Amino acid sequence: MNRRNFIETTALAGGILALPVDTLSDILPKKKPSHVLIIGAGFAGLAAAYRLKKAGVKTTLLEARNRIGGRVFSYKVPGVENQVIELGAEWVGASHERVIALCKEFNLTLFNNQFDTHLIYNGEYKKAGSWDFSPEMNAFWNKRREIWANMSEKQKATLDNMDWWRYLSKMNLTERDMDLRELADSTDFGEANRHVSAYAALAEYAESSDKNEMDLKIQGGNDLLASKMADAIGRENILTGKKVLSVKQDKSGVTVTCEGGETFTAERLICTAPTYSVMKINWDPILPSNTTDGLNSLQYARIGKFPVVFKERFWGSENFDCLTDGPGHYFYHGTKDQPGKQGVLISYATGDKADVLNAQNPERRLQLILDSLKPAFGDVSKYVQGETKYYWGKDPYSYGAYAMYGTGQWLGLMPELKKPHGRVLFAGEHLADWQGFMEGAINSGEEAAENML
Ligand SMILES: Cc1cc2nc3c(=O)[nH]c(=O)nc-3n(C[C@H](O)[C@H](O)[C@H](O)COP(=O)(O)OP(=O)(O)OC[C@H]3O[C@@H](n4cnc5c(N)ncnc54)[C@H](O)[C@@H]3O)c2cc1C
Repeated sequence: MNRRNFIETTALAGGILALPVDTLSDILPKKKPSHVLIIGAGFAGLAAAYRLKKAGVKTTLLEARNRIGGRVFSYKVPGVENQVIELGAEWVGASHERVIALCKEFNLTLFNNQFDTHLIYNGEYKKAGSWDFSPEMNAFWNKRREIWANMSEKQKATLDNMDWWRYLSKMNLTERDMDLRELADSTDFGEANRHVSAYAALAEYAESSDKNEMDLKIQGGNDLLASKMADAIGRENILTGKKVLSVKQDKSGVTVTCEGGETFTAERLICTAPTYSVMKINWDPILPSNTTDGLNSLQYARIGKFPVVFKERFWGSENFDCLTDGPGHYFYHGTKDQPGKQGVLISYATGDKADVLNAQNPERRLQLILDSLKPAFGDVSKYVQGETKYYWGKDPYSYGAYAMYGTGQWLGLMPELKKPHGRVLFAGEHLADWQGFMEGAINSGEEAAENML
């Protein structure tokens, strides 16, 4: 008996009755719904509601937090006027068509948020333009789009069964190349290269803009797009502080119960919660065991943002960012081109480094962060005005920044998690081609809405 059969058999033996999926399809209304419930008011939920509103469908968004935006979380720098930093999503990619189109529709300004990457490696500081990978590494990098374009489906499936570190290790690159790829790529994936599907990694690097979608940002804060979408949907349809605990569906519709006992009923539901939160919801009928297996196996990247407010921008260039092999990991100027003398450098740490920084008391954390910058700037403690942090690895709704597809998971797992469950459709960044991006969240929300229409 394989593991899946085992779970199904034991569930039935234990008296837990799972309605089979074909029974669920009987209760699916064939016509366009007039009212849809949406779990989550992040970009996926807001995009779904906005699309449905345009089609004349009423929506009610239930959001557990006391704010909208989810993993888009803009933050006014305390003690500094008119400066905003991003504690969640930072960059809008040049290829992110829907985000760019929505910004245009709502008259939001996108400004250049590209950086020139400096390097601190093995105690040495190299300015942007004065360091590089080996010629072998550069040759592969320059050919990555071509390699991807010429791959057969079978080769892609093989690639998905391999991790990104293993894939790179087959190329006889130097140890330094491997170290630098680790520093750079783990900022993208949020975990070490050894954990990431080589398919997911190569696809992202082959299809992304030259700066890997680290191109633009919304003036005034990325959450302005959430705010504009909310206005267009109608704020009265977005209820915050409503944590969904259970979803029950039958022939008459779908009923959702929130913490505190309040219930909401509609014909259909779109669930945009990250997988950790999907698992916490009590589903009646229960989710199929394949879906539960998938939810249990998908990991989310541990990313921490540890911003330090400095009295002056001692790093010189507005376009400063820096990869380091210290615990501060990757630094970037979070207040690029914003007014004021002060500036914020954000230490963006991933995986174990993020766990370690998060676990320290503020003084010790600050010390570790400043130490990472020492080879470049010496002791900069005299410039410190304040520090803060947001650690997504312990966010109560996602327990991670974004999904991290490991070996064998991209092709196998995502289709499973995307399957509808009766009247319920699932959406969210973890189910999109542009996975891990705001664009992916919007695409998935709009796709779910389209499917209901
Ligand atoms: C540190 C970090 C850096 C990032 N950098 C970038 C970047 O540079 N560029 C980019 O494009 N993207 C970036 N992202 C990714 C981007 O933020 C996400 O892809 C996107 O915001 C996810 O949107 P979503 O709607 O799928 O999920 P979410 O934003 O998580 O929305 C889901 C919502 O569901 C709510 N919810 C969960 N459970 C329940 C429940 N039971 N009841 C009610 N509500 C519930 C949650 O509170 C949440 O608000 C980053 C993310 C992080 C965290």
